[in-house]
Amino acid sequence: MKCIACGREGMTSAREDHPFVDLPDVTLVDVLVYRCQSCGEVEVEIPRPAALSRTVALALVEKAGPLDAGEFRFLRKHLDLSAEEVARYLAVDKATVSRWENGRTPVPIAVDRVARGLVRDLEPVPGWFRAALPRLAGLHETGPMKLRVRNEDGGWALAA
Ligand SMILES: [Zn+2]
Repeated sequence: MKCIACGREGMTSAREDHPFVDLPDVTLVDVLVYRCQSCGEVEVEIPRPAALSRTVALALVEKAGPLDAGEFRFLRKHLDLSAEEVARYLAVDKATVSRWENGRTPVPIAVDRVARGLVRDLEPVPGWFRAALPRLAGLHETGPMKLRVRNEDGGWALAA
C-alpha cells in the first residue's frame, strides 16, 4: 500500500484502538491502522462511516451533561446542516454558531436540546423528546462524552 502523504510503498498495518478524529474522546476499538515507515503518516480504516456517525450521534443525544463544542459540531454535521443553516434556523449570527463550535462560548442549553431533538427526529421514538426534557433540565458539566465503539456485523456498536 502506498502512503498518501509521501507516496512511498511499505505502510505497515495493525489492529488497534484509535481515537476518532472527529471526536477524540470516542475510541474506535480494534480498527485497522496503517503507518508509513518513511514519513510517519497514520491512516485509519473506517468501514461504514455513516453507521459510525449514527451510533455516535444516538449516544450523544443521551449524554448526561451538556454538549461541548466538538459534540455540537459533530451533531450539526450528522444532521447535514451547514453552520449558515443553523444560524438561520435559530435566528442567530453565523459568528455565534462559530463561537459555539470553537468553544469560545458554551453551547446554549436551549440549542443543546434542539440539536438532540433534531438528531432523534431522524429516527423518531414517539415521546422521546418529552421524556428527555426533565432529564436534560438537570444537566451538569461532565466533560466530553467518552465512548468506545466497535465495528461489527456491518455496523458500529457501543463497546465496553
Ligand atoms: Zn509516508
